[in-house]
Amino acid sequence: MTSSNLNATSPFSTVNEPPRFDVLATKDLVSTVQDLITEQNEALLALEANCPADWQGLVEPLTNLAEPLTYAWKLTHHLLGVKNSPELREAEQAIQADVVGAGLRMGQSEPVYKAFCALRDGPGWSSLQEPQRRIITSAILGAEQSGIGLQGAARERFMQIEMESAELGTKFQNNVLDATKAFSIVLTEKAEIAGLPPSLLAAAAQSAREAASQHPQQTEAMANATAENGPWRITLDVPAYVPFMEHAQRRDLREKMYRAQVTRASSGERDNQPVIKRILQLKLEKAKLLGYEDFAALSLSRKMAKTVKTVTNMLDGLRVTAKPAAIKESEELLAFARKTTGDAALTLSLWDVAFWAERQREELYSFTDEEVRPYFALPAVLEGLFGVTQRLFGVKIEAADGETPVWQPDVRFFRVKNAAGNPIAAFFLDSYSRPAEKRGGAWMDVCLDRRRLPDGSVRLPIAYLTCNQSPPVDGKPSLMTFSEVETLFHEFGHGLQHMLTQVDFMDAAGINNVEWDAVELPSQFMENWCYHQPTVMGFARHFASGNPLPEDLFKRIVEARNYRAGSQFLRQVYFASMDMALHHGFDPNHSQDFQDVARGIAAENTIMHPLPEDRFLCSFGHIFAGGYSAGYYSYKWAEVLAADAFSAFEEVGLDNMEKLAEVGLRFRETVLAMGGGKAPDEVFRLFRGRDPDPKALLRSYGLAA
Ligand code: ZN
Repeated sequence: MTSSNLNATSPFSTVNEPPRFDVLATKDLVSTVQDLITEQNEALLALEANCPADWQGLVEPLTNLAEPLTYAWKLTHHLLGVKNSPELREAEQAIQADVVGAGLRMGQSEPVYKAFCALRDGPGWSSLQEPQRRIITSAILGAEQSGIGLQGAARERFMQIEMESAELGTKFQNNVLDATKAFSIVLTEKAEIAGLPPSLLAAAAQSAREAASQHPQQTEAMANATAENGPWRITLDVPAYVPFMEHAQRRDLREKMYRAQVTRASSGERDNQPVIKRILQLKLEKAKLLGYEDFAALSLSRKMAKTVKTVTNMLDGLRVTAKPAAIKESEELLAFARKTTGDAALTLSLWDVAFWAERQREELYSFTDEEVRPYFALPAVLEGLFGVTQRLFGVKIEAADGETPVWQPDVRFFRVKNAAGNPIAAFFLDSYSRPAEKRGGAWMDVCLDRRRLPDGSVRLPIAYLTCNQSPPVDGKPSLMTFSEVETLFHEFGHGLQHMLTQVDFMDAAGINNVEWDAVELPSQFMENWCYHQPTVMGFARHFASGNPLPEDLFKRIVEARNYRAGSQFLRQVYFASMDMALHHGFDPNHSQDFQDVARGIAAENTIMHPLPEDRFLCSFGHIFAGGYSAGYYSYKWAEVLAADAFSAFEEVGLDNMEKLAEVGLRFRETVLAMGGGKAPDEVFRLFRGRDPDPKALLRSYGLAA
């Protein structure tokens, strides 16, 4: 079957059209994907046999040959997220390894790699546009960092390192899981559960029942546990541990839980300390094999921040303001605890902080979701969101329901139009929770990328926006919590970067090829508008009475966000500094223990120092088993970029519509339009006229004037 035949017949590979959700059938998936893999491999073989070092002969055909499979696979994953079923899961499992294999085969093709290098080093390079050059450079770097440039023994060693690292990452995670599972406390007395909220008690009783069924030797009482009468089993899982530490009145039990938490996976057969040491050794060795000074340099080579110095400057800039603020917050918390208990000699330990902070928050800024929801009905929120988008970026969003099939009757379809009224993009919005078939959380995903097609026409981008809020009930619209509103703005920000791109080359259009630490800029930027009073007041009104959101409630929402901001900032700076220190300037092959490095970093970045036996690194999966090694700083980095971008709007006056639209246009033409076609630090400078400055972020949390 030729590619054009297949494209015409299988709804899983329509490529240039929005998917035909009305006729997609899971039973066709496996055979379609298998055909696409065969076609992709054959086309790749043909290209490898004759690999010209020019854009038209190399990159265009490569994009063409990869797109059908990528399209079908993305579509499969979209459906797994929003329309899951046992049949679909089974089909996906059946082909997953082959799809991954086909991807690896492309990424590790030596003839293609060599042709890319020849293109970069040849005479045609200077006539290419910047996005084209970025696509090529990034393909070369990606291939090199998976070892393709290495020869002989070095290559063999590289593969061994990759293999062992993957095993160690799994072992690290398993140790954390097993250690978490191995510890629990079972409470039987009412006095022991004083302060715990009903939701935690219900979960703790359920946990007791489950433990009883897994261990028949457990008592009958556990098998019959109830939320009212217990027993209640509390574990180190986040959904149990966090509320327990915030609400348990029994200090001795909090201490017990805290000590277990910070020493998880740090002894016996689940000890992650040797695993960490080995992971750090392998990372350093890998970086050196690839020609980098250390692992931080390797990690930053494909990020916006580029150098350790840039990262540490940012962290220093945050610390210098956050630390004194955190000290002040600690003192205030102690005073609050002393006043509440009437004990003037009270001192706080590490296991008291979350408990007292929660009491203080309740007293100062408490609001409930139920108080807020009636003011944030989905139709009003969408009107507000689309209004901001139109005012800032000069694009109009229009409902286009029914113009293309959807996967669920209440999914909406919208078109984005420019000032002249011409369509430039579209998106699906799947708002409501459907626990039986839809994954939790919220996300933006690519349906179609913008691309200039061989006939010169432009394929317009389409996005999927997925949320999980409660559906309309009893004739009431879907009423959102404040955090759901924030999440919708966030995901829409990703959507805007995908949809307003002006890049014609698919692999650098929208969010494609955007450096990992820059990709949260537009999304975090959009969140800022949820804290902008005139914007929120403009759309938040009671769904039944039409009354505006009470100003006092809005104030409490803002203050709750800023509550203990110094301590929160310092904690993120602590983790990010730790991550950098372990991947830069520390040699795991020498005698110094990484725990000594950890203690040094803790001394500088905490107000209440960790316990001497604290081993929290043993469960820090982000950097030892996730993708955040020498990248943890990205959380704060993205916030710095977003707040600094938002402050450009503040500077011209948020109610000066004309100026606002000017800055908005500049944001649209740089951050939103250039996608991965230009280095993100240059894009930022084009928009802001200078490098990012952490002051705006500190200001937005009330930490600086
Ligand atoms: Zn995001």
